[in-house]
Amino acid sequence: MTQSAAKIIVALDYSSSDAALALVDQLLPSACRLKVGKELFTNAGPDLVRVLVNRGYDVFLDLKFHDIPSTTAKAVCAAADMGVWMTNVHTSGGSRMMSEAKRAVRQCASDMLLVGVTVLTSMEQADLYESGVQRSVADQVLHLAKSAQQSGLDGVVCSARESSILKVHCGSEFLLVTPGIRPIDAAIDDQLRVVTPQDALAMGSDYLVIGRPITQSLSPLATLEQINQSLVTVRGA
Ligand code: C5P
Repeated sequence: MTQSAAKIIVALDYSSSDAALALVDQLLPSACRLKVGKELFTNAGPDLVRVLVNRGYDVFLDLKFHDIPSTTAKAVCAAADMGVWMTNVHTSGGSRMMSEAKRAVRQCASDMLLVGVTVLTSMEQADLYESGVQRSVADQVLHLAKSAQQSGLDGVVCSARESSILKVHCGSEFLLVTPGIRPIDAAIDDQLRVVTPQDALAMGSDYLVIGRPITQSLSPLATLEQINQSLVTVRGA
């Protein structure tokens, strides 16, 4: 694992190892971390993750585990064995699942970070009602974030718009990882509510997940460096 100070996690939303590596070849481990999600992992598997780790990148394995506690704990341990920097579980899997997953990370003597997914930002109030949850989306996010914290998780994935309130309730050490980030001049793509990198950091986000503005740029490293530069004055990043 590197000791990178990079705040940007580049989302490798590709369907093959070759496509992902073609982008990674243009980046630097000192400038960003990398996110491997379900599509890329299902196509390319642990071999690609190991290649990225061996190249010196901090890898966020975004597989959103959600299963019975013992299975989740073993899956999280397998991620730690690959040398990943951060992975995640669904907080709706419950406090026993989260605590056992965190205990498993400690037991395999790994310093891998374990964060929780609260309410997917694709879900609306009606989806919560449908699943039997009567709280507002904001209250449910806070409820699940507190549950993640009490279960020993290191932080949550959330919308940057939720960052300020979560920092107030969960404290500054509780990590907030936020997608839906767009530099002011970038295309919004299919994101509905976007926040600029500077605003996200100012609102309390610790790590910013950014995909297409970097992966589809003609000069990915230059775009990344530009965003990094724009963050220097915010919170001393
Ligand atoms: O290209 P873009 O910057 O929109 O990519 C954002 C990444 O963050 C994608 O990998 C997407 O799946 C992920 N993500 C998101 N919104 C969430 C959770 C994850 O955009 N609420």
